[in-house]
Amino acid sequence: MIRNFFKTNSRNPISERCEKDSFTKLRQKYDLYYKIAEGQSGTRVTIDGKEMVMLASNEYLGLSMHPKVIEAGRDALQKWGSGTMGARSANGGRWFHRELEEELADFLGKESCHVFAAGYLACMASITGFAQRGDIILADKNLHSSLWEGIRLSMADVERFGHNNAEHLSSILKQLDPNTPKLISIEGIYSMEGHIGDLPAITKVAAEHNCFVSMDDAHGIGVLGDQGRGTANHFGLTDQIDIIAGSLSKSFASTGGFIAGGKAEIEYMRTHCKQSIFSAALSPSQAACARAALKIMQQEPEWQSRLWDNTERFKKLLEELGLDTWGSATPAVPIVLGTRERAYFFWKKLWEKGVFTVMSTAPGVPPGKDLVRTAISARHTDQDFERIEAAIRYAAG
Ligand code: PMP
Repeated sequence: MIRNFFKTNSRNPISERCEKDSFTKLRQKYDLYYKIAEGQSGTRVTIDGKEMVMLASNEYLGLSMHPKVIEAGRDALQKWGSGTMGARSANGGRWFHRELEEELADFLGKESCHVFAAGYLACMASITGFAQRGDIILADKNLHSSLWEGIRLSMADVERFGHNNAEHLSSILKQLDPNTPKLISIEGIYSMEGHIGDLPAITKVAAEHNCFVSMDDAHGIGVLGDQGRGTANHFGLTDQIDIIAGSLSKSFASTGGFIAGGKAEIEYMRTHCKQSIFSAALSPSQAACARAALKIMQQEPEWQSRLWDNTERFKKLLEELGLDTWGSATPAVPIVLGTRERAYFFWKKLWEKGVFTVMSTAPGVPPGKDLVRTAISARHTDQDFERIEAAIRYAAG
């Protein structure tokens, strides 16, 4: 009765905002990304009955349909059930989490590791687990959203430095109080640009100013380094990076994430980090698939070499057509079109020719950098390339 008395016919302002938001309406109009009906091979998907080549998956090594990965996931599901139903530090921790953590730490050349149910959580934790109010975070201006979320939640002060610009980083550090604790946040491979982080220059500056370095290598592991050990290994700088954060949803062909580092740091993070304490642990099949993929990376190096062969083949085509790839040096390849309209028409032409890519426009990218984001997989075949080449030539023509 009382509720009825106060109830009015007007919508509350938050529901009204949701209903009227023009950006949401635009996204819904063009939203094709929930339509994938089948996608077994990793490079072919079916949308509205039409088979398309997937040229936008982060599954760089193409292991999600590898028989050993499937078998491991199925066995784990049967043995351990579907979920963990609790946090690592409460009832959700299992033996297999420890196994995976030890294997990842060993692979990455770090003492210790902790796994999370999502890469996004792990990357947030790679900041919130260490930086706190009163510290200063020096952040590359092109960081992934998960890192910005972590930076904001940490309550530390923030200084942005130019993308991959160690000189700018150094000039900022020279002006700061040398006694304030500082964390530098960078990525191994920047996902939108495909740039490799300038680790040699940045770790040098970090050492000069006694900074803690936290690196998100979600796109670097599996892709760079000996057997895919990532960007730090690629440069021989593993010891200069305090924390390596990663995702299990890319080369590991699963979902989840982790952070690896020194024993003291990881134990501290386990004690203090809310992303771990208050979120359910990685599920059995996710963990088992990632463990299987990790083994494959070490036992079947052909996946990594196929990935790079395919990347070179694709880059050659784009170069021949004079397309701007923003200096990408990795299998994450943006095609920069410059305006939202041009990006949309390029993306649409690829779509018409049966090639699935993702369009990214401002504010997701800097103004003038509107692009179509592509990603190469070790699984792309000659037949896939025939389709890709024809579509790219058509879109660029
Ligand atoms: N960091 C980077 C650089 C990423 O690109 C992503 C995913 N796109 C994440 C973190 C989050 O990983 P996940 O999707 O596994 O949650």
